[in-house]
Amino acid sequence: MPSYVVTRAPGKINLQLSVGPLQADGYHPVATVFQAVSLFDDVRISFSDKPGISLTATGKVSELLPLDKNNLAYKAAELMCKKFEITDGLAVTLTKEIPIAGGMAGGSADAGATIVGIDSLFGLGLSRSEMEKIGSELGADIPFTISGGNAIGTGRGDQITPVLSRGNYNWVLALSSSGLSTPAVYQECDRLREGLQVAPPHISDSLLQALGAGDAIALGKALSNDLQPAACSLKPALRLVLDVGMDYGALGGLVSGSGPTVAFLAENEDHALDLVVALTSSGVVGNVVRAAGPVPGARVIESA
Ligand code: ATP
Repeated sequence: MPSYVVTRAPGKINLQLSVGPLQADGYHPVATVFQAVSLFDDVRISFSDKPGISLTATGKVSELLPLDKNNLAYKAAELMCKKFEITDGLAVTLTKEIPIAGGMAGGSADAGATIVGIDSLFGLGLSRSEMEKIGSELGADIPFTISGGNAIGTGRGDQITPVLSRGNYNWVLALSSSGLSTPAVYQECDRLREGLQVAPPHISDSLLQALGAGDAIALGKALSNDLQPAACSLKPALRLVLDVGMDYGALGGLVSGSGPTVAFLAENEDHALDLVVALTSSGVVGNVVRAAGPVPGARVIESA
């Protein structure tokens, strides 16, 4: 048995997020196309003399990151220990690169990485789909952070079907210094839609065709997010960011998930670099990074 493992899980962009009407249980059915991108959180899990789970974090952390039982990595470790009757003390260290509360499912990535890490540390031999099922008990975005690649998510986004895709895509991500709360964005979406007939969620054929053909220009045109008007309503500066990226020739741009991260699709690496320079010098965004997708889901990168 190794004494520690390090797992790595990707952030995600929703290439499409179609949000259906609010249900009686307070949730919205969604249909979404995820792409895992190369912004990663690492999770190191080792044995500890201290009983229970001890959690620490390094990297791009902020006061928004809970380091107690509310952290999704803590919840995932607790659930795995309960399910597999693990009684050892465990030290869990997160190295955060995915923006916190940025609409890129960073917390879910940490939970997915923790499930995969505990499976490996204790040699549980769980299949990917078993780990995805455990993840879905904690959050709708967790199964995808385990599967990675490109996938359609239905239900609450947690029922994952892989999507055939060709090619690699170059993204430029405009990060915000403050987060947006996912429940607050859904609430704003309901407010904006009041009195309107809302159709059931659906995936656009043109988006799937673009992915299947590896056609970045068509993909750029097909990007869409039903939560974008709500995210922009809560954070009007996002409209400006979207305008600047499109003015500088992005193939497409959208708010990722519930925001506030804005993702722009570039033609190639050089074009992505130009977009980074343009967005940075525009003064409307503080932090701009590049990422590529699709990348694999949560996996072990180190163990001894
Ligand atoms: P969602 O998956 O709901 O779209 P998000 O991608 O916008 O969320 P996350 O980084 O996952 O953003 O964080 C959402 C909230 O979850 C944060 O405000 C934070 O309080 C809480 N949280 C719990 N655990 C974590 C974690 N390990 N990393 C980041 N945030 C976490």
